[in-house]
Amino acid sequence: MALIKCPKCGADFSSFAEKCPKCASPFEKLNKIKAGLIRLGIALGISFIVFGFVELFLGMTAKDPMDFNIEIGFIAIVIGLSILFKFLWTMKKIK
Ligand SMILES: [Zn+2]
Repeated sequence: MALIKCPKCGADFSSFAEKCPKCASPFEKLNKIKAGLIRLGIALGISFIVFGFVELFLGMTAKDPMDFNIEIGFIAIVIGLSILFKFLWTMKKIK
């Protein structure tokens, strides 16, 4: 059983507790929601990047020169990277 510190009052208690027994701060649940959001954001960023690379590949291999898959691919990769970095930065801040 690991002991963790309450971010509000600094009391030590079990990591299994959902809220602080001293100040009733529901930090554990909050952290779980934050961790879930970060994972969701990272997954979203990665899917944007994967989609971007697929579009890039399709755009480069397309026979039609008017195909704008390459531009969509670049935009998707930039959006994906910015989402990814934003959520990775948030994760660093929490830790
Ligand atoms: Zn507390």
